[in-house]
Amino acid sequence: MSQRVVNFCAGPAVLPEAVLSEAQRDLMSLPGVGMSILEISHRSTWADAIFEEAESNLRELLAIPANYRVLFLQGGAQLQFSMIPINFLAGGTADYIVTGTWGAKAIKEAEKEGTPRLAWDGRGDNCVRVPRDEELELTEDARYLYYTSNETIQGVQFASEPGFESHGTTSRVPLVCDVSSDFLSRPIDVSRYGLLYACAQKNAGPAGLTIVIVSDELLERRRDGLHSMLDYRRHAEAGSRLNTPPMFAIYVFMLVTRWIRDEMGGLAELTRFNRDKAQLLYDALDAHADFYSTHADAASRSTMNVTFRTETAELDAKFLQQASEQGLEQLKGHRSVGGMRASIYNAMPQAGVEALRDFLVDFAGRESGT
Ligand SMILES: *Cc1c(COP(=O)(O)O)cnc(C)c1O
Repeated sequence: MSQRVVNFCAGPAVLPEAVLSEAQRDLMSLPGVGMSILEISHRSTWADAIFEEAESNLRELLAIPANYRVLFLQGGAQLQFSMIPINFLAGGTADYIVTGTWGAKAIKEAEKEGTPRLAWDGRGDNCVRVPRDEELELTEDARYLYYTSNETIQGVQFASEPGFESHGTTSRVPLVCDVSSDFLSRPIDVSRYGLLYACAQKNAGPAGLTIVIVSDELLERRRDGLHSMLDYRRHAEAGSRLNTPPMFAIYVFMLVTRWIRDEMGGLAELTRFNRDKAQLLYDALDAHADFYSTHADAASRSTMNVTFRTETAELDAKFLQQASEQGLEQLKGHRSVGGMRASIYNAMPQAGVEALRDFLVDFAGRESGT
């Protein structure tokens, strides 16, 4: 096999090697089918079986209640920035919590469909933390409360649902969440949400697939007369096959759900694995706090995207150069934040994180010693 580097890319991101090998094998011929996954009809019984297993594995992993639909859509996470207000805002108001770049983009799209309000805005503070519940300004008649569980660019993550105790039950204001970059990294209590969604290419598969989980109750509230492809109800009624779905991406997603269940021991086990990996890096960064700083406040640090920097842009560039020479790739922070970002999703092995930890300790020793 060709040499693989340690890939810290934020997305599309590293996939489990076992999944890649299986997909490679099946690219020529699906077992028992004699055709490639790229060549089969989405109306075939083989496609039915892939859809069914992908959905049932996901339902099992997240314990999704029976009164929720699972949709496999296209258009990426960003189409959801529009579909959510198109279906549910309809000229009304909704509350948005902005803790980073993706939430900021989402509210901008919602403004085209109604009058969303900022329940909390982290931008004044450079998006370094999530709000406390008592800081939220929530509206009684909001159609939904929207937030981003993990801001991929800033590396800022919610530990639990915002405002849930005081406000966000699905019987009152439905909670809507972009879980793109921490999907399947930890359990979620789906019953607390009206809708949650994730593009696959961070933690769950290749680009081209977006998974939406939506309650029947919220689906009932969607606006009438929508274009079919923008209408959640139509997608649900058509079993996510209103048009040709991305079968390959759904297939790889199915393999990833199997891998989580069979190889990683399920979500509880995976949560510990992810927490431990993140802790390795944060401990090393904190131990060299005179040399590195993290972008996120300690209490809001992400277990998926570790954002940090040295004291100067020159040293950051040197860090990235030397890391790359050791096969530690894609560590450059997003241009809007700068510094470094290590994305350590489910498929990032412990050994990859340890290699980065060793490198950053060595680098600090070398550079602060001179
Ligand atoms: C990557 C990402 C997006 C954008 O995803 P696309 O599929 O490229 O539209 C949106 N939200 C979050 C949290 C992300 O990490």
